[in-house]
Amino acid sequence: MTWGFGSNPGMLRWAKRITACAAPGNRLWLVILCAGLACWGGLRPAAAADRALDFSVHTLSSGLPGPTALIVGGIQGDEPGGFNAAALIATHYKIRSGRVIVVPNLNFSSIVKRSRGIYGDMNRKFARLTLDDPEWKTVDRIKAMMKHPEVDFILNLHDGSGFYTRTYESPQRNPKRWGQSIIIDQARMPRVEGREPSLFDDLSRAAETCAGDINRRLLDDTHRVFVKNTHTAKGNREMEKTLTFFALKHHKPAFGIEASKSFLTPGRVYYHLLAIESFLTQAGIGFDRGFPLSKTGIRRAMDEDIALSLGEQRVLLFAENIRNRLNFIPMEKDRELRFDVNHPLLTLVPNGKGFYLYHGNRRLTRLFPQYFEYDLGLDRVEMVVDGEGLSIPFGSRVPVKERFLVKHIPDHRVNIIGFSRQDTTNESGFVVRQNNIAKRFSIDRAGRIFRVEVYREGKFNGMVLVDFRAEQKSLKLARARDDRGEKAPFFR
Ligand SMILES: [Zn+2]
Repeated sequence: MTWGFGSNPGMLRWAKRITACAAPGNRLWLVILCAGLACWGGLRPAAAADRALDFSVHTLSSGLPGPTALIVGGIQGDEPGGFNAAALIATHYKIRSGRVIVVPNLNFSSIVKRSRGIYGDMNRKFARLTLDDPEWKTVDRIKAMMKHPEVDFILNLHDGSGFYTRTYESPQRNPKRWGQSIIIDQARMPRVEGREPSLFDDLSRAAETCAGDINRRLLDDTHRVFVKNTHTAKGNREMEKTLTFFALKHHKPAFGIEASKSFLTPGRVYYHLLAIESFLTQAGIGFDRGFPLSKTGIRRAMDEDIALSLGEQRVLLFAENIRNRLNFIPMEKDRELRFDVNHPLLTLVPNGKGFYLYHGNRRLTRLFPQYFEYDLGLDRVEMVVDGEGLSIPFGSRVPVKERFLVKHIPDHRVNIIGFSRQDTTNESGFVVRQNNIAKRFSIDRAGRIFRVEVYREGKFNGMVLVDFRAEQKSLKLARARDDRGEKAPFFR
């Protein structure tokens, strides 16, 4: 699957494939095959590890004519309002006309480190940058995307301190603050001889319209948004180095959106989404949003059903409310580990003998592998779930209301993690209820989701999750692979 110009990944599909190689002695390094780009084989381990944190590109195409917006989140790693808003556009919006290209995680290395910029401020690297800068390639890639002839306008999402106001009111509310503002570098696009007038030539009017749209839907009167013109071309040396000014120099209208750091992330995301929706609407780009625009709706959409799959989609792990440590995760011995995520801010970073799973700034869990040879001779288990016979492929989540049973598989051993019998180590053929499994072995903090693993002569076949939240939640079977064994789009 490719993300990029011309591809249409749609909603909640596996976003990124990363390959980790387990070398003799169990030392790990990462090689990323960043979604349809190039194979980075042969890189030195240190350089290769960085590839796990390359930015991803999500193209949402309506198939109908219309303008193309480029939305950039995460240029600074400590501004989660911006990058979570961009991620929600990629995962929860359907574009009805025109096209939206989203880069939600431009500075992913700094995002996982919760740093504004581990190699300095990336938003000051757009005027001049030397080839030896560790971020040269990232900046070069995004510049090429911005200059692409089909991109009509660009939104750069930030979280800014305090509240921008036109006159001094207080230390938190004054003209030097950035929060709650729409940033333009100048009032109008530079005139070019012989060039047709185009969308958003009047930057000031478009930004004022956006501010007005937001100000009609404030969560509180003190959150009012203003337009801030940095008059960059009139000698603003700092702003000359930014992404938006680079865009202007290449005749692309660009706006900075700043939500206030005074709010928690869902509040910041709320204002970002209002701003993005205003610009899309002004441009005539139609869209549907898959959740209610409220702090609760945003919080839920940010976390629900985020998942990763490992080992050729034979292991599926849901990351929502996951325990902060998971042990004995079966990974393939002496072979590269591949993982896929269904959310652009999820990534796995090797650390010592384990891997950290990140969701943007948040470290969700640490996975400790146990290495096995994989036996690919078996693809599924036969189960009886709440009285119904089901054939379940490995790498699935099965909703269970009350009870399940895994049918006996000749020559194979079923291990229900946290369930034990005195008389046997093969746990097939037993009716199992939630209270038969020790809660501390669940993958989630609530003690509702458990692992069922199948082995043959010490080799690992695959894993299925049994999810006892079925009783209170309308859960569906979720699978990492489709019937032909291909990587499947994620579905709820
Ligand atoms: Zn910023």
